[in-house]
This record gives sequence, C-alpha cells and structure tokens, in this order.
Amino acid sequence: MSLQRRPLFAGNWKMNGLRATAIPLADELASKIRNASPVPFDMLICPPATLIGAINGVVADTDLAVGGQDCHTAASGAHTGDISAEMLKDLGCTYLIVGHSERRADHAEEDVMVKSKAEAALAAGLVAIVCVGETEAQRDKGIALDVVSSQIRGCIPDGATAEKIVIAYEPVWAIGTGQTPTNDEVQEVHAMMRKILGEKIGVGEADKTRLIYGGSVKPSNASELMVLSDVDGALVGGASLSHVDFWAIALSYPH
Ligand code: PEP
Repeated sequence: MSLQRRPLFAGNWKMNGLRATAIPLADELASKIRNASPVPFDMLICPPATLIGAINGVVADTDLAVGGQDCHTAASGAHTGDISAEMLKDLGCTYLIVGHSERRADHAEEDVMVKSKAEAALAAGLVAIVCVGETEAQRDKGIALDVVSSQIRGCIPDGATAEKIVIAYEPVWAIGTGQTPTNDEVQEVHAMMRKILGEKIGVGEADKTRLIYGGSVKPSNASELMVLSDVDGALVGGASLSHVDFWAIALSYPH
C-alpha cells in the first residue's frame, strides 16, 4: 500500500461468461461501485471480448472500468480471428492485459511480443497491464527474481510512464491453485520490480507506477497482501467471477 498510488483491482474473467450470467455480474459490480461512490480505488473487469460491448452498456456512467485480455500487435490488417487494441478502445475499454502466463503458455508469447502488444495498447490510448511471473520450476531453482527482472526488462513498452502501465506480478504456480507466495516473497519481488522499473523509466515514474499482485487472491488472504508496501492492488481471476468476493477483495485495501 502507498498513499501516493491509487490501488487497482482488476478482474480477469478469462474465457468465462455468457450474456445471461455475465451481464448481471457486471451490473451487480456497477451497482456496488455506484452506491459506494466515490471509492478510494480503481476497479476494472476484463471480460471475454464477446461481452465487452454489452457490458460497456451496463457499466457506462459508473467508475467501473472495462478492459481487454489480449490484442494483436497491429492496429488492423489481415489477421483473421484477432482483435486490435484500437478495436478494444473503440468498444470503450480503458485497460488491456498483456503477457498473461496463460497467453505465454497457450500461444507461445515471449517477452518481445508482449512488449509489442503493450506498445499497441499505449498507441491506442489504453493502459497496459503487463503480466510477469516465474514458474514453479524456476522458483524451485532459486531464479524467480532473475526471471521476473528479465521479463520486466524485456516487456516494458517504449514510452511507458506511471499513467500508462501497470505491472502485475503473477507467479505462474499461484494462478488458480490456491497457493500463494509468502508475504515476504511477494514484497521482495515487488520491491525488485520497482527498482528495475526505475532503471527503465526513472525512479520518480517507478515510484508512481502501480504494481499489483495476482495468483489465488481471495477475500481471506487479500488484506495481508494489500498491506505490503509495494503492492498496489490485485489482478484477480477466479474470485472476480463472484461480485461479492471481488468487492470484498477491493475493500480489504487499507484506507
Ligand atoms: C489470473 O488469472 O490472472 C489469476 C490471478 O487467477 P486466480 O486469481 O484464479 O489465481
């Protein structure tokens, strides 16, 4: 937590949701944020692209932001089945997740591509949420810090500022498993990320950049993670599919 950085709670719905249940879920969150306004945090949902248009209709005029989960590196062109950052912006998105470990694993995305996607996000006027994190094997080998620092060096887009990017530390082994690193481990990685970021974009900008944690965040463990000095919110997968749990996680941030 930090008084100079506004916390961000981002829900990654992944490939979940049909209109019948997803729209009411977004509507519940929109009501919560409307009734609690002004809230001391930013809240974002990243639904599948198929739902973004309909959801933006429901959350318009609230402080609930909507983002994409991925984009092509190009703004337009002959790329059947892909969508661009510009198209997501056109639908009303303000954020875009890039480099999620499921994209890296399922689509062989490497740092150079993640960086290009983050640059596409910035060019479209979206805030890029750049995901990094080590695998279990890398942690067991004792190279978690090296892996994450190399991902940060490789993925930070040219032109990054505190306003334009968010970094999400998501240890791959903690995603959807119920396991989390210790608080000391999370703080150690986040402090290191801020230092490397300072070398890339300047210490002043790095100090203002939000670094969020993701990996099995739930209402039961959120408050202990959110008090860590370099943790500025959470990227939440499974628990963001419950408006009660996602809201409880956001409220756990110390105000
Ligand atoms: C994620 O997919 O970004 C994530 C953090 O998932 P979960 O919260 O389910 O571990």
